[in-house]
Amino acid sequence: MSQPDTWFKTNKCFIGGAWRQSHSSETINLINPSDGTVICDIAAGSSADINDAVTAAQSALDGEWGKLTAPERGRFLFKLSALILENTERLAKLEALDVGKPLSQARADVLALARYLEFYGGAVDKIHGTTIPYLDGYTVYTLREPHGVTGHIIPWNYPMQIIGRSVGAALAMGNACVLKPAEEACLTALAFADLARQVGLPAGALNVVPGRGSEAGAALSSHKGVHHISFTGSVPTGRAIQATAAQNVIPVTLELGGKSPQLVFEDADLDAALPFLVNAGIQNAGQTCSASSRILVHQSLYDEVASRMAKRYSALRVGPAMADLDLGPVISARQKSIVEGYLQKADDLEIIGKGTIVEDAPQGGAYIAPTLLSGASSEHVLAQEEIFGPVQVIIPFQDEEEAVAIANGTDFGLVSSVWSENGARQMRLAKRLRSGQVFLNNYGAGGGVELPFGGSGLSGHGREKGFEALYGFSTLKTVAARHG
Ligand code: NAD
Repeated sequence: MSQPDTWFKTNKCFIGGAWRQSHSSETINLINPSDGTVICDIAAGSSADINDAVTAAQSALDGEWGKLTAPERGRFLFKLSALILENTERLAKLEALDVGKPLSQARADVLALARYLEFYGGAVDKIHGTTIPYLDGYTVYTLREPHGVTGHIIPWNYPMQIIGRSVGAALAMGNACVLKPAEEACLTALAFADLARQVGLPAGALNVVPGRGSEAGAALSSHKGVHHISFTGSVPTGRAIQATAAQNVIPVTLELGGKSPQLVFEDADLDAALPFLVNAGIQNAGQTCSASSRILVHQSLYDEVASRMAKRYSALRVGPAMADLDLGPVISARQKSIVEGYLQKADDLEIIGKGTIVEDAPQGGAYIAPTLLSGASSEHVLAQEEIFGPVQVIIPFQDEEEAVAIANGTDFGLVSSVWSENGARQMRLAKRLRSGQVFLNNYGAGGGVELPFGGSGLSGHGREKGFEALYGFSTLKTVAARHG
């Protein structure tokens, strides 16, 4: 596909239920990471556009959208989910074109988006307040209510999935959303807006303003009419957003990066573990917040795991998104140079596994051959910092104590996994590992829309996904009635 199949406006903002020209005349070139060509121009939304979007969201809350019951909102999400499924192929092609991810992975992202909407649409009328038997002569109860206007600042790696988990949950709870997608990849966010329009979502419940982080993103996170911010992206931007939100004293959910380990013990089922050890590191070209970039292996198995992982690496092929190989390009020339910068700092390490960029991959694409490195101490920069590219380090450990110390020895705490047949060890480590998710003899449990997800430390705070997100995108009001 050379030109995107767009049935929506690529160069406009979606505000108050309609496509509107941006106040800014500036545009941003959307680049195809597979070949470096311009896909189309998008609007460089300005603070005036954000202001219009927040005003439209507040009007929706004061109007039709704010009056709907939970089952009525749920039905909108079901309709939107069904329409998304009808458009699976079109959306998958847009995501693959824009993000550079292999087409089949983009298809899986469409299904995840549809499933989020279905899950939240079905869950929202099953979440409610409680009564509190407290004082004689009183009836005390709690009401679960939306925050109001929620801001969603999302990155380029999984636009559809992140829209599903944050906008889906926020809409279900009755918030009105302003979504600022990433300037590198925003086609499916715009497509999502148009599908919401087509199912008749009340005007202003969802607004999408594309644009730069420094302008549109900063305007959204500092807007006084916004009552909650959900951010997924880098640590520095997360810090800036939390500091800004502090000025307005509003809650923030931060989903930042990770340096997630998999721990392989001497009693691990290696045949089961091997595909997870590699795939969790290279999926989406390693550009996944929960990517497993550290493989920690008991010394007795180290050589075997290293050589079996290396063999898998040598079979990995990298090429254009539409060729649907194991890996596509990384998102941009900038991201490629960040990853290459890390590889230059790996001179003292040994490359033990490497994939292949296919010969006919376009010259202008941002391709990185997946790379497996050994010889890193747990303090090495490649074992400490998030690379956000297809690079894994493999590190030996002597015993459980050392494994836990290495696993917990970074500033992040997003995901970890334990490969061991010893049930007592599984339970011990599930408690001791410092991460928001611990997977036992798997990694990611199939992506699980239903599973609460989030981190600690520099990985952020707050939980999205699962039922938990419905608590995060709502607030509790206590009502106490004295009736004698
Ligand atoms: P970023 O955090 O700067 O961008 C993410 C989103 O935040 C985008 O929508 C961007 O426009 C917006 N943004 C940027 N500056 C902003 C500001 N001052 N105020 C409000 N919004 C702002 O990330 P990036 O520059 O695209 O990528 C850099 C690094 O971030 C990557 O190498 C990777 O390590 C990390 N990253 C992590 C994730 C994740 O899923 N956790 C996703 C993307 C990038």
